[in-house]
Amino acid sequence: MFISVAPLKNDNFNRDLKRRWIGISGNVGLYSHERRHLDGFGHVTCKGSDNMDQAYDEKNLSPFGVQWWLYKNWLTENLGVGFSCLSDSERQETAGFFVSTCEGYRTGRFCGTAPPVTESPASWRPCIDPTTKPLSGKPMNLVR
Ligand SMILES: [Zn+2]
Repeated sequence: MFISVAPLKNDNFNRDLKRRWIGISGNVGLYSHERRHLDGFGHVTCKGSDNMDQAYDEKNLSPFGVQWWLYKNWLTENLGVGFSCLSDSERQETAGFFVSTCEGYRTGRFCGTAPPVTESPASWRPCIDPTTKPLSGKPMNLVR
């Protein structure tokens, strides 16, 4: 797999962005999208664009479908990445980004069936500090 992206300005804003979940998640989504192309998914033409997916299908996620699915499940914390541990302001910023990104994919990347509307959850799960012991009293295995 070969991915080529236009370089970002190497300024403090972009360096900081790539260290934060909001920036890291974008790269994970991009790599996941590109990986689906290796599984045989190409893009199709409709609605005036040649960079579209045919349809959203959770049983066989397309390149934009996998990005939408990741953002939605990070947002809802079905995929736990510590999102709830962010500061209130960063969580709100990231949640807003995920919601608007999901909506962009939903309305602008599918010719046929599109994924559903995504909204921020009404509340967030409690932040679980990975340095504390779980309720079982056994130390957690931390991946380093
Ligand atoms: Zn693509």
